[in-house]
Formats: sequence, structure tokens, C-alpha cells
Amino acid sequence: MAQYNRAIAALAADSSLSIEAILRGQSPHIHVKAGLDLGRSQPQSAWKEQSIKGTALRAFVWFAHLLSAYYDVMNPPENAPLLVYAFRTSDVPRSFSNAPSAIECVEALLRSVMHLRNDEIDLMSRTKHNQLVDYHSKVSAAIDASVALAPKQSDLIHDLEMLRIHLRVISLMLATYAADSESVWNHYTADFEMILTGVENAMAYQELNPRSFYPSLGLVSPLFCVATKSRDPKLQQRALYLLHKLKRKERTWNSCIAHQIARAVFNLEHGFAFKQGNQEIPEDCRVRLDSVVFEHQHQRIVVFYRRMATYKTHPEVESVTVPWDPLIDVHFDFVHMSRKALACFGYTGVHLIVPPIPCQCHPSLGQFSPAASDPSSEMSLELR
Ligand SMILES: [Zn+2]
Ligand SMILES: [Zn+2]
Repeated sequence: MAQYNRAIAALAADSSLSIEAILRGQSPHIHVKAGLDLGRSQPQSAWKEQSIKGTALRAFVWFAHLLSAYYDVMNPPENAPLLVYAFRTSDVPRSFSNAPSAIECVEALLRSVMHLRNDEIDLMSRTKHNQLVDYHSKVSAAIDASVALAPKQSDLIHDLEMLRIHLRVISLMLATYAADSESVWNHYTADFEMILTGVENAMAYQELNPRSFYPSLGLVSPLFCVATKSRDPKLQQRALYLLHKLKRKERTWNSCIAHQIARAVFNLEHGFAFKQGNQEIPEDCRVRLDSVVFEHQHQRIVVFYRRMATYKTHPEVESVTVPWDPLIDVHFDFVHMSRKALACFGYTGVHLIVPPIPCQCHPSLGQFSPAASDPSSEMSLELR
């Protein structure tokens, strides 16, 4: 572990590498490997560990986290054993004195839940599930205690409140990971409400108190969760509206992309339900996202999904194409979003910067499909 830390520190200390360039990398293990190689070849004096402490180092630790959450289990990179993280509920303090230590705990939990969701469900997972529920309640209690102690209207309160939102999303992930239906989400309306109110408060605070560089788990994923999993049209539209308003990049996610994918799900389900003469979205009409391909050249997003009507009998993947205006944001070079990533609402872990982006939602999205249940409210959503 020491060698790994020194190696990534060496890479991070190389001033020719901008954090943004690194953060945009799509193959984190390449950077980690490069860091290891560089670390071995550099004299100790070149490491400048002091100068990169806390910021760049965090970015590289983040890569390691991402790698551990996503690497191919059959073909782990050679340094994979270094990335294994062990939980001990006894390690969780009674309260957190600063935001980064709280974020670290929540992120560790998030990463494990991502593993759980992506694993085959077996007895091992059941045991692990219970451990995670236990860890979740310990971290939640510590965050509640910290909120009670923190000064009002401070960055610390804001960061802790954000973590409460993520903990709520994580609890939903834990509660639904083994479900083979989408109706399981019907039970969580109160959670969706809490998430939306939390995000609204966070957005208001961030607008008044901008910070250029701070660790966060982002706002796009919680909103994407509500927009695609709550089938209460009012809550979904509130989430869609906030995604559209957010206009920011959170690593590979950006809020416009998330808005358009969530919107596609909304349109599909309401279209199917409308054909059946339903006001609500019954299980048969629901869809589960499979993967998303970004076709920059053709200016479109292809959203692959499975219909719950045939999920168990004929699990065929269908697709819908969404017009997209990618040329506005030249920095978005992502081409594929996996089922794993979508099942975890695009969470990738801690990021440090959330650059603003120009809106890249296609204007034709304002012309809402006539199959929708309530086209007038959806229209006004886009026109705001
Ligand atoms: Zn939008
Ligand atoms: Zn947009």
C-alpha cells in the first residue's frame, strides 16, 4: 500500500498533468498503472508529497475506488489486491468533525453497494447485505450527530446534508438490489420526496455559496434515481426539472445527458401505459435501463432498455433514439454507459470539481410525445 501511495503521489505531483485531464480519463487503471511505473522510476525527492496532499492524491485514490468497483472480475489488473477495502463498523466514529472523513465512509459504503448490485445474488451477498445495512445505520447515526453539532448555514452542514441524500439513495439500492420487478420502487415515495427536497436545498445553498474545489458525490445521480424509479409523475417531473436546471458536469455524468436519458424512460413508460389506457404505470409498462450509447457523429443518444412485460420470458433488449446536441460541449467524450453504471444511477464516487456546462438538451424534447399522460405540464417544464 505504501508503494502504491508513493506511486500515485509521484504521478499527481507531475505538474504537466492537469487534474481535469486526468479526471476525464475513461480507463482509470491506465493512470494508476502509469502512476506505479512513474513511481518506480522517480527519485524520492521528486515526489513532493506535501504539495499534493489532500487534493490530487484524493483524485488518484478515487481512481482506485472506481477501478475496484468496475474492473472485470475475471481479469483483474495486477494491482487489484491493493484496492480491496474492508469494512469495520467499529471504525465509524460517533460523529464526524469534518466533511471529508464523512464522505470517505459514505463512499466506501456506496462502492460496496455497487458491488452488491452488480454481483450474482447468492448467500455470500445476503451476508454482505446485512453487514452493509449495519454499516449504513452506523454512518447515518454519526452523520445525524454531526449535523446536530455543526454550525448552521455552514459548508459543513451542507456537505453533511448532501451525504444524507446519498445515504437515502444507498438505502434504496440496498432495499431493491435483489428485486426482479420495478414495482418494488412503489414503496419509496417518501424517500423520493426527501431526496428531491434535499437536492433543492443543496442547489440553493450552492448558488449562494459557490466553491470551486471540494469533494462531493454529486447531485446528478440522486436526481436520476428519482426521475427513473419513482413512478409518481409529479415527483418525476420535479426531478427532471432539477436535472435540466442543474447544467453541470459530474465526471462522466452530466446533468443534461441524465435529463435526456431519464426523459426517454419517462416517455417510454407513459407511452406504453397510455396505449393500455392506464393513468398509472403498471409493472408491464415499466422499463429497466440496459445501456446507453452516445453517438457523437449522429448527434443522438441510443437508450437500450428491457420491458418488464417480457423481462422474465423474453429478456430482449429494445432501444429508443434521443436527439442530442453534443457539439456544444466538446469535453464530453463519453461513448458508452454500461448496465452496471446505470443500475447504480451513474454514481462513480467522489469528485472534486463540478464544471458548469451549456445546455445540450435537444430543443425537440420540448415537443412532448402525444402519448404522455400530461403533456401540458411537461411542455411548461422545458419552457421555463
Ligand atoms: Zn434538459
Ligand atoms: Zn440541458
